[in-house]
Amino acid sequence: MIRVLSVASECAPLIKTGGLADVVGALPGALAPLDIEMRVLLPGYPTVLDAVGKKRTESKHKDLFGGPARVLAAKVGGLDLLIVDAPHLFARQGAPYAGPDGNDWPDNAERFAALCWTGADIAGGALEHWQPDILHCHDWQAGLAPLYLRDRHPGAPVGTVLTIHNIAFQGLAPADKLAALRLPPSGMQTDGFEYWDQISALKAGLVTADRITTVSPTYAGELMTPEFGMGLDGVLRQRRSDLSGILNGVDLDAWSPPYSKPAGKAKHRARLQKAMGLADGPGPLCVVVSRLTTQKGMDMLIEALPRLLDLGGQLAVLGAGATWLEEAFRARAEAHPGVSVRIGFDEDLARMMMAGGDAILVPSRFEPCGLTQLYGLRYGTVPVVAHTGGLADTVIPATPAGLRAGAATGLQFHPVNADALARAFDQLCALYSDRDLWLKIQKNAMRHPVGWDQSAKDYAALYSDLIKQP
Ligand code: ADP
Repeated sequence: MIRVLSVASECAPLIKTGGLADVVGALPGALAPLDIEMRVLLPGYPTVLDAVGKKRTESKHKDLFGGPARVLAAKVGGLDLLIVDAPHLFARQGAPYAGPDGNDWPDNAERFAALCWTGADIAGGALEHWQPDILHCHDWQAGLAPLYLRDRHPGAPVGTVLTIHNIAFQGLAPADKLAALRLPPSGMQTDGFEYWDQISALKAGLVTADRITTVSPTYAGELMTPEFGMGLDGVLRQRRSDLSGILNGVDLDAWSPPYSKPAGKAKHRARLQKAMGLADGPGPLCVVVSRLTTQKGMDMLIEALPRLLDLGGQLAVLGAGATWLEEAFRARAEAHPGVSVRIGFDEDLARMMMAGGDAILVPSRFEPCGLTQLYGLRYGTVPVVAHTGGLADTVIPATPAGLRAGAATGLQFHPVNADALARAFDQLCALYSDRDLWLKIQKNAMRHPVGWDQSAKDYAALYSDLIKQP
């Protein structure tokens, strides 16, 4: 048995702003059959504390970054949680990173440093009955944990892994927070956690963790290039031999289509059109469930949209994000009966979209793994994706070779720009009108394995490699 402490700022279904939460929430269940016991350490946000019901106190109150804190334990829906109950840091309304006004909390650096501090202590043996063999940290919010572990518990027999879910978020803090974050001044240099005179929580993890993973093999390669590395490509090139890509999977219970054959989609398609106020049309009903940002290529979609509509296609969007993109989609919906948009975050509607859509669009400029194309595959909702990152690794494109081999599960476009997306709409509509071929692609998609089986084995192998003898 391998014991793993997973440290993260989000975990579905308790607290979620994106794919990170899905993955953190799914990993424990995916790894359990491989004799891996994973506990998840989360901040004690009000939503988490309210959702978990009965809690056990695992450690008594201690001072943590300026206020009393303790560790609680709770089990919920198959998840074995440890929770940092620190009201001065986490008992706040709003999203995990921002207040009700939409601005980031000014003390985010301290809040997530406290999460890391606690994680490092647990890895160092702070709990009476449980100590992990592996400390698995996710994204910048957990980036300081391997460093605190190394500095505060040297020699602890614990291997460390940092997983990059999105390198665009690096957890930068001004250098004058060094003391507040209890970091050693010696780390403020190029081979430490310094990043252009600031403190980078992500870089701290990148230079200290035993291994680094990201969520697809293609993104692992891309991260080492200036185009995708967001300033950290050099650091990652130096750690090339410790970096690997392990694809995300889908929680098959949480994402299970209410039909077993593509034909079962018809009534869900009609339901979705009704819910979104769309009439029926001759072309494919395309859906988008996404943050509305330029990373996700939403501006390119707006540019290429006229082509889809000219071809008789429809677009239903569920998302929230940049105000100008929200407004642009609203304006298109007002101007064209084939476009409908719902601004907000809605898990039920997301599932309705997957079940009712003909195609799901993921035109990201970069995409570490991407989950909605995986849900699309499972639901027979054909993914139309940019050729980048995990999208390139998970969708078998309907190229002449892919079609001849009878293997295609979706469409990829390249280069990643609006013209290429518009051309992908041409191909999409042509394929859609060939009913037999379309059905074949849908069936291929639904058969494509998107569960955790292979990736769970890859994580298990990684953990076993890192087991340290006390
Ligand atoms: P990212 O984490 O970069 O946002 P992913 O594709 O990895 O992108 O994960 C996005 C997750 O968030 C998916 O589970 C998707 O269904 C969900 N999601 C995104 N936007 C919404 C929304 N508006 N309503 C419901 N779920 C959403």
